[in-house]
Order: sequence, then C-alpha cells, then structure tokens
Amino acid sequence: MFKILQRIIGITGRFKGRIRASYITSFIKGVMMKAPLILCYLAISSFMQNTMTKDKCIYYGLALLACLALQGVFEYITNMLMSAAGYMVFADIRLKLGDHLRKLPMGYFTEGNIGKISSVLSTDMLFIEENCMGVLAEIVSFMISQGLMVVMMFVMDYRMGIMALIIVGAFLIVGNYMLRTSMKHSVVKQEVSEDLTDEVIDFAEGIGIIKTYNLLGEKSKRLTDEFETSCREAIGFEKAYSPCARALYLTYGIGTSIMLALSGYLYSIGIFTPEYMVGMVFFLFDLFISIKAYYGHMPRLTVTSASLDRIDEVFAAEELKDLGTKELPAAGNSGSVDLAGDVSEIEYDNVSFGYTQKDVLKDVSFKIKAGEMTALVGPSGGGKSTIASLLARFWDIKDGHIRVRGEDIRDVSLGSLMDSISMVFQRVYLFQDTVYNNIAIARPDATREEVEEAAKKARCYDFIMQLPDGFDTVIGEGGASLSGGEKQRISIARCILKDTPIVILDEATASVDADNERAIQEAISELCKNKTLLVIAHRLKTIADADQILVVSDGEIVERGTHAELMDKKGTYAHMVSLQAS
Ligand code: ADP
Repeated sequence: MFKILQRIIGITGRFKGRIRASYITSFIKGVMMKAPLILCYLAISSFMQNTMTKDKCIYYGLALLACLALQGVFEYITNMLMSAAGYMVFADIRLKLGDHLRKLPMGYFTEGNIGKISSVLSTDMLFIEENCMGVLAEIVSFMISQGLMVVMMFVMDYRMGIMALIIVGAFLIVGNYMLRTSMKHSVVKQEVSEDLTDEVIDFAEGIGIIKTYNLLGEKSKRLTDEFETSCREAIGFEKAYSPCARALYLTYGIGTSIMLALSGYLYSIGIFTPEYMVGMVFFLFDLFISIKAYYGHMPRLTVTSASLDRIDEVFAAEELKDLGTKELPAAGNSGSVDLAGDVSEIEYDNVSFGYTQKDVLKDVSFKIKAGEMTALVGPSGGGKSTIASLLARFWDIKDGHIRVRGEDIRDVSLGSLMDSISMVFQRVYLFQDTVYNNIAIARPDATREEVEEAAKKARCYDFIMQLPDGFDTVIGEGGASLSGGEKQRISIARCILKDTPIVILDEATASVDADNERAIQEAISELCKNKTLLVIAHRLKTIADADQILVVSDGEIVERGTHAELMDKKGTYAHMVSLQAS
C-alpha cells in the first residue's frame, strides 16, 4: 500500500509541494471533525463534576461552531489543492506522453499497441485523475489519524495502547490479504479491458470489409465474447473481493467491542474514572474508523497501481534516438562525392535492417543524385516500402549508413531531416477538419494564396470549390465524403505546399477512374518537378523514364539500371514488364 502511494506521489512531478500541503490541510480537517467529540467529552465531564458554568457553556458552544467552520474551510482548501493538482498533473503527463509517442518508431504503432495507447490515454489516466488524486490527501490523513489514535490510547493506559496496536495489526493482515486479491484481479481486469478496446477498434475500422465478406456474425461473436469475458472478470472480482470487505467490517466490530470490554474492565478495577469511561464511549466508534476507511479506498488504489503499470509500459517503449544535432546542408550545397566526381543527394551504404531479429534488408547500397528519380520495383514483400521508410527514420537501421547530402541521417536532427523529405503514402489520412487545414498542416505558416496555389497544382482546386463551403468544408472522419482519388490529390497538395527537395512516393495500387488517374498523374508531375525522387512503383509504365530502377527482391537489390538497360538484360525486370503488358 505504501509502495502504491509512493508511486502515485512519484508521478505528481512539479505539483509535489501542492500535494504535500494538502496532506496538512486534510489532517487539520480530520482533527476539526474529531474536535466536537472532545468538546462533548469536556462538557459532560464538567456536568458530572458539577463544574459547568454559563460562561463555560457559551465557550464550548462557540468552540463547536469554530470547529465546524474550520472543518468546512479546510475541506474546501484540500479539495482545491488536490483535485486541481490531479488535473494539472495529468495535463503534464498527457503532454509528456504525447511527446514520447511522437518520438517512438512507427513499428510501435503497428504491433497491437494502439489498444494499449488508447486505454492508457482514456481509461487509465482518467481513472487516476478522477478517482485517486482527490482522495490521496484523505488517505494520508487517515494514516496519521490512526497513528494518533493509538498514541492517545497509550496516553490513557498502556493496556489500551497495546490492545489498540494488536487490533491495528489485525487490520493490516486482513487489509493486505484484500490488497493481494484486489491486485491480482486488477491486472487481469485491465488486460481484459485492453483486449476489449483492441477488438472494438478492429471491429470499427474493419466494418466495411466485415460487411462485404459477410463476416458480421463471426466478428460480432468475437466482440460479444470479449464483452462476456470482461463482464465475467468484473463479477469474479466482486466475488473474490466481497468476503475481504466483510472481514474488514468484522475486524472493526470485534476490535471496537474488545476496546469497550477492556475499558469496562479498567473502570471496574478503578483505573478509569467515570469521566474517562464516558470519554472512551465517545471515542470508541472512531478508534479504528481511519484504518477502516483507509482500506475502503483500496480497490481504487489497486486499479490505480495496475493503471500506473500500463502507463509506465508505454513510457518504457524505446524512443527513436534524436541525438543528432546537425542540420542538413541546404539542398544542392553538399553531398558525398564519388570517384567520378558525382555528388549524391541520397546514399544507402551497405544498409541492413530487420523489424525483429530476422533481417529484412541485407547490404542494400545505392545512390541517388539530386533531381533524379529512382524507382523501387519488385515482388510484394521484397522490401521496397521498408527501404523507403528507413530514409524518413521511421525505424533505425541495424548496420550501414543512410546519408543525405553526405550526412548520416542519425547525426542530423529529426526536425531537420523531416524538413527535407515529404512522403505520399498509398493510404491517405485526412483529419476531421477543413480541407484548408488538411493542406495547410504541411506548412502552418503558409498564406491562403500559397495553400490555394498548392491545391491548384495538385489538381484539387476545382473539386474543392464545388464542396459546400469550398476550402472551409469540414471533411468527414477519415475523409469519408471524398473519393479515393480526391483524397490522394489533397495529400499531394500537402506535399506540394511543404516543397521539400526529396519526395518519397508510394504509388497507389487502388484503381481509380480514368479522369482521376490523369489528375493524379498531373498532380504528381507538379510535385516532382526539380525534386529528388524515390518511388515505390507498382505499374511499371509510370517509371519508364526513371534515371535508375532498382529491382528489390527478398531484401536485396537484384538488378539495377535504366529501363532500357534492364530490358536488354532480359532478367527479372524484363519479365515483370512482359507480365504487366500481357
Ligand atoms: P514491399 O514494400 O516490397 O511489399 P515491405 O518492405 O513492405 O515489402 O516488406 C518487407 C518484409 O518486411 C515483408 O516480409 C514484411 O512482412 C515485413 N514487414 C513489413 N512491415 C513490417 C512491420 N511493420 N513489422 C514487421 N515486419 C514487417
């Protein structure tokens, strides 16, 4: 329990001071709650000793009023300190997580971690923020109050103190058993919730395919199974936890009764005066209330602990190291010069890489001169996309070097590298925002004229102007209201606006109608003017003019040359061309 508390306090970062202050205010509030009992005890003692006067009566009354007022004030201050701190702490943690996610390699987002990220951001953080931070001060104040109660018992009589200690020990045994039970179930509960999130995301994303292939029954069954598992786990948790909660109540009841019996005994042998006895009766039901309430918060704390584990897991994912401090030399200014005196804009030098231990690329080497076009062709799964994505440092290579204008891309800051490269992916993602913002995202400081000019070059202007609000039309989630070809052209407009010297183009395989096809080709030609191009080509006729064609198969470059050279060779490329022609 202490460990969990320590972990929670550990995440509070720069708000630690504020949270510590709330322990004090919460404790004062607790004392103010107990003070009326002391006043009642004093008043009754005065009556029993016949020493009560009118002044004393007024004094007690005023003191009682002051206690109630102070209780309210300190409760308010504690709430302000804690709840606000909770939201501020998590605002900081969310920003930190956002920054961390930004630096993770792309691979992290394709390994089934989307469900985890989404649960961490929504369920876990929200739970701690709303359920835990607000009660943290209370929990700490309960611990202090319980300690003071035991000390008070020792002050009254050492036998009362020892008995109180034994009963607190019994609470700790029951409480720790409760903690273990709750912990075990919390971990499983969170795993089940993560699986459920994954399944729901999978179902929602794949709904089109599910309907097309009539998989509604099968996929719905998997989703229903996940819901049932989640429900079963929640019931299992309640079943395991309820007996523990009962045991805690029982300990409270038995402990209080033992303390009553012991004070009765001490009264009977003349150690307690009648006033002491009355005082004990007043305090009796409050003696162990703090430790009982403390363990009452346990389910929240154990869920919090499991949530913190998952937050830590996401934070533990290794970031792509952005240790490079260099800036890329301006385009055309530098590059690696080979023996023939040619300067290359991009150079892959014996590059090896694997997503896992197994190598996907083996000793890949090639150079691209500034302003030239290199096409990657070859069978599916050969490694074309991998080669292209390594240039943008979506992953880091295992061996070798990738250089841009002579600089190893790991020595260059990610920001500087990304300022030099733009990518047109096959799968276009448009944000649920206006068309304008979807293009301007590439260069937020662009003027309206520049954005419109990019749209014109990307052959999108006409269809955008036909939308209900032109550039200010909000595109549906994922760009649902535009056709595939139109979305593709908007993504090209983005790249035109970014205007980087290097363009990576993953040629779309999805077939679009002839008009769209022509418009996309025109848009691409605009984008590629005076650029260094790395194209992943699927239709070979589009790359016949490439300065260099690399045939990639099984992670290696098996052929290289121009279209004419490769056709003469009559190898893999020529075979692929003949297959596509037929
Ligand atoms: P191509 O673009 O030529 O179709 P890829 O570069 O996509 O080929 O894939 C090369 C190999 O790497 C394939 O075996 C593929 O399964 C594997 N691969 C691609 N992406 C990933 C990934 N994110 N994680 C693990 N393996 C991957």
